[in-house]
Amino acid sequence: MRKKIIAGNWKMFNDINGTVKLISDIKKDLNGKNPNALVIVCPPFTNLESASTLLKDSVIKLGAQNMYFEENGAFTGEISPSMLKSVGVEYVILGHSERRTIFGEPDQLINKKIKAAVKNELKPIFCIGETLAEREKEITFKVIETQVRNGLAGLNEQELVNLIVAYEPVWAIGTGKTASPQQAQEVHKFIRGLISKVLSPAFADGIVIQYGGSVKPENAKELLSQPDIDGALVGGACLKSDSFLKIVEAV
Ligand code: PEP
Repeated sequence: MRKKIIAGNWKMFNDINGTVKLISDIKKDLNGKNPNALVIVCPPFTNLESASTLLKDSVIKLGAQNMYFEENGAFTGEISPSMLKSVGVEYVILGHSERRTIFGEPDQLINKKIKAAVKNELKPIFCIGETLAEREKEITFKVIETQVRNGLAGLNEQELVNLIVAYEPVWAIGTGKTASPQQAQEVHKFIRGLISKVLSPAFADGIVIQYGGSVKPENAKELLSQPDIDGALVGGACLKSDSFLKIVEAV
């Protein structure tokens, strides 16, 4: 059986004080509970080191929200995989729709980032998803297929053993609109079938595919009970310990 993974993408929220408080709250609220899901928090870069210290001896894992693919060099403003590793980061979100749309990241760049993550033993959370216009044009599957094929190009099963895919319809991110469990399941099933063709049926059977897009305590249970939905990537609802943990408890 596939494990369930709930990850919180903090985006550009919380300074160092907010980070200490939110992580302390999550740890306190999770204390003594044995969650059915692996829990990951992804604070902003500046707070990763403190978060890592706070999470020592905790079941909660640490992720970053982005990175560059080069090891070092004249890349002002960028962060390398080994820099993330050096502060205790284990997971990294790559290809988030906000990176794709606001910062213009193309599939080819995301592919390089996934390769760099794998090489540095960071576990990628690879985000894919269609825009509203693409859904209305009924090209969702085509868009997803292109993103998956381009994003994973040149990588094999061994390299991708720790890959997590997050299906995040862009129209559902931060909008309060959630894909219905049936809409989400349909795309998750398609992604698993596609990965089966691109890699192998056994690999596709084991891969964790998270859903993201306005997941909240009220809709988490129904989404997470779909056969191909293996967890959630949570934005807005991860910024308060109680709503984040209600989603964890929905697993
Ligand atoms: C996200 O940032 O990945 C996300 C899904 O955000 P939200 O839950 O706020 O829609």
